[in-house]
Amino acid sequence: MSLTIFITICYIISSVLFVIGLKRMSSPVSARKANQLSAVGMLIAIVATLLTRGMMEWQWIAFGLAVGTGIGILAATRVAMTSMPQMVGLLNGSGGLASFIVGWAAYHYQPESSLLTTISTYLAVLIGGVTFTGSFIAWAKLEEKFVTGKPILFAGQKIVNSLLLGALIVGGIIFCLHPDPADNYPLFVAIMVLSLILGVMVVIPIGGADMPVVISLLNSYSGMAGAATGFVIINSMLIVAGSLVGASGIILTRIMCKAMNRSLTNVLFSGFGSVTKKAASEVKGEAKAISVKDAYYVLEAARSVVFVPGYGMAVAQAQHAVRELGKILENNGAEVRYAIHPVAGRMPGHMNVLLAEADVPYDQLFEMDAINPIIDTIDVAVVIGANDVVNPAARHDKSSPIYGMPIINVDKAKTVFVLKRSMRSGFAGIENELFYYDNTRMVFGDAKETVQALIAEFKSV
Ligand code: NDP
Repeated sequence: MSLTIFITICYIISSVLFVIGLKRMSSPVSARKANQLSAVGMLIAIVATLLTRGMMEWQWIAFGLAVGTGIGILAATRVAMTSMPQMVGLLNGSGGLASFIVGWAAYHYQPESSLLTTISTYLAVLIGGVTFTGSFIAWAKLEEKFVTGKPILFAGQKIVNSLLLGALIVGGIIFCLHPDPADNYPLFVAIMVLSLILGVMVVIPIGGADMPVVISLLNSYSGMAGAATGFVIINSMLIVAGSLVGASGIILTRIMCKAMNRSLTNVLFSGFGSVTKKAASEVKGEAKAISVKDAYYVLEAARSVVFVPGYGMAVAQAQHAVRELGKILENNGAEVRYAIHPVAGRMPGHMNVLLAEADVPYDQLFEMDAINPIIDTIDVAVVIGANDVVNPAARHDKSSPIYGMPIINVDKAKTVFVLKRSMRSGFAGIENELFYYDNTRMVFGDAKETVQALIAEFKSV
């Protein structure tokens, strides 16, 4: 078998492994195996690609591999579950930077190429540059380092962004028609610089609860940049892998948009998130607190209970205690469900991961659309460190920044317990009128401690 055929077969196997891996990632049951499958696919692809390059300075490859692997292992083992979106942001940014550099290197060393390669080089640099700086800003915003997490707005921002984009399009057309470096290397450098600036400009006006959509969109961009780079260096594997990331990122973006009631066009053309956030209507009334003992009496009598976890459950690491309480309630004769909002927590699938870690049976996990139609039949909805995703203002208060975001309608359950430490707001920084509803009782304290105290009450009888 010739080397070319061998490499082609390796690429086909890798592509199949990627596709199967992606498919299996759609269920928490198979997601872990799916990840391993995709990693094997990537390993095969890397080895096959290295085989295509005959004379190479292997010491640099080995050095890069060792440094990259070291950083990857360190970052992945140290990252807190709550910091995952930032980590994903950084990984997207690295992908964008790689495409940016490869596009630049390809043009620098092999400027005479076909129109297709020139267009791909332009796209790799443009999308790669935007992804790199955009992801860096998204990371900084989520970490609240160097830059505020809130939207940064200034007069004429949209005009500046449109001019930037216009300059990049016009510059790109001129560059693709006349790529000769003798004439247009400075233009290419200008395109690189403007792409980096555009990345910053499109992400700074976005903030708060809109960030998850940006992260998944940048994820898609990193895939598209990779695919463009595949055309530059004529590597079919990179085209396939980049397209898969690009497409799955767009699908995830659409799901997130739907969950946050944003249109994709709105995101793509960056009017998104830059709307001035008006203060939500003042919430009037008094929140009613309840002791753990009284909460226990209500739960003890409940025939159906739904747990609605949010970011606070992740902070408190309360998932195992919640699962234990769930089992106790089941043994007590209650029907127990766990309702998951698509943007609860700080990353897509955050709650699924935590509940899977605590061995919550998958048939007890309910998506928002599945729980809402039956929520009025539920005796007690126990909100565990969730806030924005259960805020009824999203349904009716047009002045609220989260207006239009579908929520889990816990307020329609017969009784609502909200487990949190204080009356403080959640990620969106707004008051939650749910806390003041007649059927709501606040159980103040760290979520894990409160759930453990409830378990202790059940065990003490
Ligand atoms: P929120 O951020 O709205 O609220 C979390 C609540 O948890 C806080 O109000 C806090 O109240 C409480 N909390 C914190 N620590 C504890 C603790 N130890 N014990 C008990 N409670 C605690 O969370 P949600 O999950 O409801 O909503 C997610 C928000 O994050 C949405 O606005 C979403 O758009 C956004 N987002 C989502 C991402 C995603 O991909 N899922 C990514 C980035 C942002 P207190 O301080 O009083 O305890």
